[in-house]
Parts: sequence; C-alpha cells; structure tokens
Amino acid sequence: MRYDLVVRSRRAVLPDGTRAAAVAVSGQAIAAVEDYGARLEADRDVDLGDLVLLPGLVDTHVHVNEPGRTDWEGFATATRAAAAGGVTTICDMPLNSLPPTTSVAALEEKRAAAAGKCWVDVAFWGGAVPGNEASLRPLHEAGVVGFKCFLLDSGVPEFPPLDAAGLQAALGTLAEADALLIAHAEDAAEIKTASGRDFGSFVASRPPVAERRAIEKVITAAAAAGTGARAHIVHLSAAECVAMISAAKAAGIRLTAETCPHYLYFAAEQVPDGATEFKSCPPIRDSVNREALWRGLETGVIDCVVSDHSPCPPELKSFGSGDFGAAWGGIASLQLGLSAVWTVARRRGRTLDDVARWMASAPAELAGLPAKGRLAAGYDADLVAFDPDETYVVDPARLYHRHPITPYAGRTLTGRVRQTWLRGTSLLEGEGETPVGQLLKRG
Ligand SMILES: [Zn+2]
Repeated sequence: MRYDLVVRSRRAVLPDGTRAAAVAVSGQAIAAVEDYGARLEADRDVDLGDLVLLPGLVDTHVHVNEPGRTDWEGFATATRAAAAGGVTTICDMPLNSLPPTTSVAALEEKRAAAAGKCWVDVAFWGGAVPGNEASLRPLHEAGVVGFKCFLLDSGVPEFPPLDAAGLQAALGTLAEADALLIAHAEDAAEIKTASGRDFGSFVASRPPVAERRAIEKVITAAAAAGTGARAHIVHLSAAECVAMISAAKAAGIRLTAETCPHYLYFAAEQVPDGATEFKSCPPIRDSVNREALWRGLETGVIDCVVSDHSPCPPELKSFGSGDFGAAWGGIASLQLGLSAVWTVARRRGRTLDDVARWMASAPAELAGLPAKGRLAAGYDADLVAFDPDETYVVDPARLYHRHPITPYAGRTLTGRVRQTWLRGTSLLEGEGETPVGQLLKRG
C-alpha cells in the first residue's frame, strides 16, 4: 500500500501514551500507526525526529462573531490563528454574531458566511434562549454540536438568558435528543456593578459564590430533567466549585466542565490596574484559586481546557480609560492556548499526554466529533509538530487574530507549534494557499 503522507516522530502522543511512531495517512485520514522506522511507501515522508507529534487540538469555545460583528473577529482571521496555534477544529459560539445561532435559518446564514474562508475545520453551537424551544430539535438535526445558554445577561441584547424554568425546559427537550446543554454559569444576584481601573475591585464584583449559585442551578435542573440530561459548565474560574461538580458526577448526573488557559496561567495579583486586556467574565482569580483549579484538572473533575477566545475592537476593550466596568469581557488566546497551558503544565510535572487529553480528545468527545482529537487509525489526519522546549516572547504583531490585543503580550511561553496538518494538508509551509477547512456537523 502506498500512502499519501507519513509523519514520523520519536515522540508521538498516541491514545495509549507517547512513543516513537510513524503515522501513515491515506487521503484525509490516518490509515495506520506503525513503528517509527517502519518501511512505508509514501508520496511524502516527513521525519520530525525529536519534535513531538500531537493530535490537532479541538477548541470547543471560540467566538468568531461573523456575520454581523466581523470587525471583532472573523472566520478567516480566527481560523488562521487557530492553525498557527495547533488547533485544527474550532466550535463557534452562537452569540456575538448577528443573527445569533438560535434558529436553523440563522445557522444557515452562519454557514454561508464561513464557507470557503476557514483554515481549520469549524463546527457550530446552537443557542437556547427564551422562546426558541421549538428550534432546538431542528437545530440539533441540522448538526449543531450542542446548545449554549446564559443564566445572566450575556453582554449582547439579542441573546437573553434563561430563567430556572427555561433552563429546566431546555434540558428536558434536549435530553430527549441526547443533546448537550452548555451553560455560562454566573448568578446575577451575586454580582455587583464594577467600575474604575482597579482589577481587584472588578474581581470582587464577580465573586466565586456567583459561579457556585449558578452551577447549583444547573445541577438541580439537570437532576430534575432526568437521566438523559447532559450539561456542561463553560469557563469555570472559581475552584471552590470543583467539589460540587465532582459530587454531581459521582451522583450520576451527566455533568462536565471546562476551564481556560487564562485561569490556569495568570493570577489576579499580577494584573496591573487599568489592564483591561485581562478582563473576562468570570474573572481571573488569585494564585490560591489557580492552584486549586489545576488540581481540579489534574484529578479529572475538570474535563477540558478550551480558549473562550472572545476578541473585540480595541476601543471596546476600553484602551485609554482602562475602566473594567466599561470594557468588553473577553480574552483573545486562540493562537497561544497550547503554549500557555504547556508552560505551566510542564513545570507541574504533567505530560503532553495530559495536554492532548485536555485540549484534543476530551473536547472532541464533548462536542461529539468522533473523527477528531486522537492519533489513531480512522481519525482525521489532523497533526501538529510541536517543539516542547522552545521558548518565545509573545509579540502581538505576530498574532493572526483580527486585533492584536492579548494579556500574554511580552510573556515568555514554552512550547512552539512548528507545523500543522489539517486532514493531511500542510497549513504552515506555503502549501494550502486556499483555505481547506470544512464545516462540520456533529458526528
Ligand atoms: Zn465564551
């Protein structure tokens, strides 16, 4: 058998551990995983030597914002940043674009806007908002990977939150289809208004109890909706909620949770006043919280790490005034997440097997994308060559995001993506002059 591509590495991160291997690609999929030195006939044979071969990452939390707010971010820019960061699949959030993805017609608009522009594969979340219950099943059948809801004001008026009754009704409807509901879990009753340049005041305005109360609501609603209900907590920041999530899982509730690179990398004590590029909701908390969040990840209670990439134009990020009340809450990190997580993970003695689980296979499972997230026969040939020892200083001018604003500017990160293949096509070495990303449906 003659393969289209063989990629060899002495450190291939396979589902059962890291070892020397040759990944043989036929068409767009991995056909076989052989010994590193195996004699294989191939059109192209790439030997990475000691560079690590990772599965392409799956980032299930990306706000692309196109159509409607393409000046915030768009499919062309976001997916190029993804490819440079080793992310070969993104799942686009249903809000901040116009229209929001709360009906099949809106999903079709989104797919039309994305067609032909994507450098990596793109799947879509639907939205669960008051009044769109009749659209949930059709959206599920149209291939969205699940449904996002808010439990408080989302920041944009066209995507209102669900109340307790709406949350339970949505979970019940989705349980019948075995569809996933993902929730932005903060409780408005526990949040105070913030203003001014002091980051500490902003953090105090959105305390851990706001996440705790909202997660309690999700757990209660999921339990009441019956054994079929599946719920997921997005961007967990308050580590005190790990115990509650663990207990719900142990009780048989189908609950999962994610956290984000910025909660694992930064600590609130380090954030300068007025530095609104650090604003996210929920906020980056202190270093004690960060340590506990890492433990939640390392013990498997937190399932995955995804970016919550959510950029906006510089003026909305409140540059100049540095007011944390007025600034848009969102951190752009699609291109940097792998390096940011690895920088801390390796110091903690974690391995790239852990990182591949948190950032590739677990998110792929969450979103129901069975061809993604692993280096194994039958999976898509989404491959990343990664130098785990190279360090670099983040230069915003080298980011492909639409707006080069990031709290990682000037930070020294460890681990650099050298090459990315999407379904067997090389993305970073001049090949692939036209975008080859596909629009995915839940598998
Ligand atoms: Zn988000």
